[in-house]
Amino acid sequence: MSDKRIIKIFDTTLRDGEQSPGGSMNHEEKMQIAQALVDLGVDVIEAGFPIASPDDFRAVQEISNNFKGAEIAGLCRCNDQDIDRAWEALQRAEAPRIHVFLATSAIHREFKLNMSTDEIIENAVEGVKRAKGYCDNVEFSTEDAVRTEMDFLCRVVEAVIEAGATTVNIPDTVGYATPAHMGDVIQGLIDRVPNAGDAVLSVHCHNDLGLAVANSLAGVEAGAGQIECTINGIGERAGNCSLEEVVMAMRTRSDFYSCDTRINSQLLVPTSQLLSRITGLEVQRNKAIVGRNAFAHEAGIHQDGMLKEPTTYEIMRPEDVGFDKTDLVLGKHSGRAALADRARSLGFELDDDQIRSLFKQFKTLADSKKDIADSDIASLIEQQLAASET
Ligand SMILES: [Zn+2]
Repeated sequence: MSDKRIIKIFDTTLRDGEQSPGGSMNHEEKMQIAQALVDLGVDVIEAGFPIASPDDFRAVQEISNNFKGAEIAGLCRCNDQDIDRAWEALQRAEAPRIHVFLATSAIHREFKLNMSTDEIIENAVEGVKRAKGYCDNVEFSTEDAVRTEMDFLCRVVEAVIEAGATTVNIPDTVGYATPAHMGDVIQGLIDRVPNAGDAVLSVHCHNDLGLAVANSLAGVEAGAGQIECTINGIGERAGNCSLEEVVMAMRTRSDFYSCDTRINSQLLVPTSQLLSRITGLEVQRNKAIVGRNAFAHEAGIHQDGMLKEPTTYEIMRPEDVGFDKTDLVLGKHSGRAALADRARSLGFELDDDQIRSLFKQFKTLADSKKDIADSDIASLIEQQLAASET
């Protein structure tokens, strides 16, 4: 543990996630999620965008006032009014963080901001200095960083660190990067920005090409020290980097990444399920880590291997992410070993002949019924036992 780099987990479920279609939450629900995030052990909770609405302001303020154990961040555009409003909401937090963002790519400069490169740098530095006047912990995000010219991105990053930013976030706002590209951007900043070592570099990846987790890991491999992510990967469009996936990738492959997080992984499944219940956004059954099938096995060969030694077909233990245990699903692909095991766990001691005949009946049932419940197995066994007694 000691020689492993600890990567900060910056959760933005309540900001990026909440602003996505179907992700909205009421005030009480936001407080429940904030508590779950503290329990989960995230380093930073981005609680909202205070100037965006009175509801957002109230949520950031109440989370700041009441929750200890994580830094609380509030998002703001790079102007005085936004930054002042963010601080108003954050000021009583145990560890407040002002998160200022400004777009840097040519497309955003030209079509959205109508600003020159020099104006962007001037504006960014002013914003960081204003935030710094309120609190030492200031994060600056170069919106659409991945589509920004590398030379210019280096200039912006150097200037905001010089102005006092303690974290500089490199977002792939539109989900355009690939892993090698994201790694190159982070590596390029570390190599070329002389004061890069004075701030934590962060990645914020969107999942438009299904690469948000892979891109975040590539950023970490290149030297990023913070990952921005959300529970179940909810967020704008195709969503953000999924917290549970990126955390378990680093933990399961710590032999490769030599890093870890402070996340209490046994709470991943309960937290995922809480968010699904609150928002109604269900996770797909085969979703990595937290999906209902993530630790389910139906194929006979796999079930037989699992019963002999779980590591034959599992790289993680279900209980490490908060599932009760591996789910050996009994269906038409299952074998005799799994059926015998289930019969035993239901309290029936059957001899080989009984198992053989039970297996035949089971296969017939499995052909007509997709999900076989324990009660189905029990009634097959009871019928069989009753028949052999008479
Ligand atoms: Zn985002």
